[in-house]
Amino acid sequence: MPEDLFNSFMNGPDENGRFGEFGGRFVSETLMPLILELQDQYDIAKTDPTFWAEMDDLWEHYVGRPSPLYHASRLTEELGGAKIYMKRDELNHTGAHKINNVLGQIILARRMGKKRIIAETGAGQHGVATATVCAKFGLKCVVYMGAHDVERQAPNVFRMRLLGAEIVPVTSGRGTLKDAMNDALRDWVTNVRDTFYCIGTVAGPHPYPAMVRDFQSIIGKEVRTQMERAEGRLPDTLIAAIGGGSNAMGLFYPFLDDKGVNIIGVEAGGKGVNAKMEHCASLTGGRPGVLHGNRTYLLQDDDGQILEGFSISAGLDYPGIGPEHAWLHDIGRAQYVSITDVEALAAFQKCCQLEGIIPALEPSHALAHVIKIAPTLPKDHLLVMNMCGRGDKDIFTVARALNFEMGEFA
Ligand SMILES: *Cc1c(COP(=O)(O)O)cnc(C)c1O
Repeated sequence: MPEDLFNSFMNGPDENGRFGEFGGRFVSETLMPLILELQDQYDIAKTDPTFWAEMDDLWEHYVGRPSPLYHASRLTEELGGAKIYMKRDELNHTGAHKINNVLGQIILARRMGKKRIIAETGAGQHGVATATVCAKFGLKCVVYMGAHDVERQAPNVFRMRLLGAEIVPVTSGRGTLKDAMNDALRDWVTNVRDTFYCIGTVAGPHPYPAMVRDFQSIIGKEVRTQMERAEGRLPDTLIAAIGGGSNAMGLFYPFLDDKGVNIIGVEAGGKGVNAKMEHCASLTGGRPGVLHGNRTYLLQDDDGQILEGFSISAGLDYPGIGPEHAWLHDIGRAQYVSITDVEALAAFQKCCQLEGIIPALEPSHALAHVIKIAPTLPKDHLLVMNMCGRGDKDIFTVARALNFEMGEFA
């Protein structure tokens, strides 16, 4: 959709869920009525003040919002350039941004009278957030997880069990996140009447990408207010890590029409984007195709087979990217770069040592890009990175990568 069709970058998607040539609703006939019903119900809820009043109350008292906008002064001093702020979404209940969206979808599910929530999860973060909110509301929770991931992510599997969720290991395909998402969609069709499918990122068929973006946009809305208060103006550059792209869309969306604000998404470069697809950089290293009900950039081979991808950060290894990012990339409103595992690990350690914050490996990618560009920018350049998750979940991965012997602590 050329820019001139719109007087705003915030008007998307169109009524068919398209952001230009991306997005849409590529689903089977059996799934279509469910998707349309969800869209109708979301359209009603999102203009209902009582819906947002319930969200605001839970965001404040259950999640702990607003999250602080923190001036990282030692990092700023060390890098000697731009003034660096961190949006502290790692301080949310459950330790990441995922719960912002899960709350919205589950309040919607309750309005629709659904008693059973299904979700897919890769690293387990979205599964934990979903199990958490289901426990809070007394809803049945079923989480689809690739069999391979169930093994790799034992602590999160146990967390979900403690919270009362049922875990379904998925062995179809290659037993990863992509296959878990396919099985969840199948479950939804089979159990239409009582079931709500809670998707964890800005992917899937319309209305999911727009709905998840709307719920995560609380991040960017708070940054606007907080930056006005701190500096009396808008930030100059926004930087966020991208798996499917929900924390990034949440930060970016409220600023899309502020042409003076630079927007940068950071994909997982793994071992390097030029290596044999040992990365998860769907925009930098992929091609357009259709997956999980929408058209977007995907990691695929010459025959269109979806590729696995690789990253040190389990939360970034989705083979696609939200369709709105694909569109923002193609029209040039946002810039997308990639950061390797090695660079992310270095940023992780710098953050621990200089700021006393152990970041998740996902935002460590965003931080690595901050470390690259901040020294080249003037001191009055205001830079905001989204600290979208805390690193407790990643310490064993990092220990292994640094050859640190955990011994009896492991
Ligand atoms: C899940 C996750 C991500 C990746 O998901 P997005 O939809 O791209 O935000 C990034 N960071 C953390 C901490 C996560 O838990």
